[in-house]
Amino acid sequence: MDNKYIDKMLSEMDKDLAKQGMSRRDAMKLAGITGAGMFMGGATSASAADENKTVKSNAKGKIVIVGGGLAGMSTAARLTLNLSDPDITVIEPQELSVSYQPGQTLVGGGIWDEDDIAYKRDDFVPDGVKIVKEKVILFNPQENKVTTDKGTVISYDYLILATGLHLDFERIRGLEEAGRAMSAGDNERLLKALGDDGICSIYTAKGATKTWEQMQKYIAQAKSGKKTKFLFTHPSTPVKCGGAPKKIMYLTNARLKEAGARENAELTFYPNGGAMFGIPEYHDAILGQFKREDFKWHYRHNLIEVDKKNKIAVFDAKWQEKGPWDPVLKDYEVIPKHEKVRVPYDFLHITPPQLAPREVAESDLGSAKGWVPVNKETLQHIRYENVFSLGDVAQVPMGKTGGSVRKQYKVLVDNLIALMNGKTLEAKYAGYTVCPLITDIGTVMLAEFDWTVKPTPSFPLDPTVERWMWWLMKVHALKPMTMYGMLSGRA
Ligand SMILES: Cc1cc2nc3c(=O)[nH]c(=O)nc-3n(C[C@H](O)[C@H](O)[C@H](O)COP(=O)(O)OP(=O)(O)OC[C@H]3O[C@@H](n4cnc5c(N)ncnc54)[C@H](O)[C@@H]3O)c2cc1C
Repeated sequence: MDNKYIDKMLSEMDKDLAKQGMSRRDAMKLAGITGAGMFMGGATSASAADENKTVKSNAKGKIVIVGGGLAGMSTAARLTLNLSDPDITVIEPQELSVSYQPGQTLVGGGIWDEDDIAYKRDDFVPDGVKIVKEKVILFNPQENKVTTDKGTVISYDYLILATGLHLDFERIRGLEEAGRAMSAGDNERLLKALGDDGICSIYTAKGATKTWEQMQKYIAQAKSGKKTKFLFTHPSTPVKCGGAPKKIMYLTNARLKEAGARENAELTFYPNGGAMFGIPEYHDAILGQFKREDFKWHYRHNLIEVDKKNKIAVFDAKWQEKGPWDPVLKDYEVIPKHEKVRVPYDFLHITPPQLAPREVAESDLGSAKGWVPVNKETLQHIRYENVFSLGDVAQVPMGKTGGSVRKQYKVLVDNLIALMNGKTLEAKYAGYTVCPLITDIGTVMLAEFDWTVKPTPSFPLDPTVERWMWWLMKVHALKPMTMYGMLSGRA
């Protein structure tokens, strides 16, 4: 990676560490390592390190990127580094589109403030890239055109869909007035619908601040001696950062312990699925942590309703029963059952159902489920060869994290340029993703994996062990790496 960007990343990290009264040297000593490897190891890649050697392609064509969040803006930046005469337009309506969403968990746990994660789109538009501050409402892939909410029609030779996803709070009965939300923005409707009586969600930036306020209120209640129920949900849809619903639970637990209020609190996790994590090794490790911390959990519970007045969360609970003998299949039938379960709460953290933006889902570019159907390795649309997609909106297994985007955007750029040059698409995304699972204030389990459904650690260390060094990386290194590495197209 270019020294200029390493310097910027390290200086941001040093400023941050200085706020904690720590130098980078001290931090590394505490982490038990000797070089800068920990801070940079996960951040760089061979292709980024070779950046200066990149020969720019003379390929021509008008590239339009819809969505200027992490995926869209990083892709735009990398394209400018790889094309000699780029013609790139990014369409992005949201002023704070590049804000650092992984930090919302830390805001929710009272470790950072909202200001620590707010970043303006206009400060991150790569040189030479045109920005259109409008929202696409219509896609016309037959004619290679998009239309915005202001009526602007923009044509393209190549289209990249990077719209992220919508938070579907309105699907939960009792929260209909919340509507659909995105992570950035004022989200006033949502905050009003959640109210001030214990319901919260770190899935928006403003909601993360509210989570911390509500958490403190109910920790104080537990400290006063009142038995207090803390509930955490995980919905039936794919979600961005599958670890976040648990991370906020661990942080609540840490804050309760810190306040000396843990014995009056009951923390219960209600996931829609039947496991803690899709990778058996991480599932086992998390189960061990849950037992150690005296958490409760109920699998196959999907939050469908909130009775705000009586403070009851309503779940659709599913299970299977053995049915009659089937002489044809020579086995017992399996009968799926479900029922409504009503659970009282004091504090309810909601991870909302998530789906592709309506304008994408309902266009010819969306799949039946809404997400953009792409070849999972090349990231090219399965029907329109001049369309690509990446990030949260792409229909890629296990791919909804910034860590996945960091691998995807380089593959996409290589393949798009190959297509522009009339060559075959050779770059392949292998499904890598990463979840720095915060398990306490000061410890993180770095769960890295890919489509092999096996842990794929970048470091020769047991990946199921919770470590202080990963906490340091999560809190001090990943943000500068994202903001000054990825968003410059280099990390
Ligand atoms: C609480 C939380 C914790 C997380 N923790 C982690 C973590 O620890 N590690 C990790 O790797 N990832 C984490 N993530 C996930 C990560 O932030 C996302 O995967 C990443 O931001 C996806 O990037 P994206 O560009 O696809 O979407 P976004 O960054 O959401 O950007 C999408 C952009 O598209 C724009 N857009 C939408 N529709 C339109 C339209 N019609 N026209 C024009 N523009 C449009 C939006 O305004 C938005 O700016 C976390 C996320 C959350 C919410």
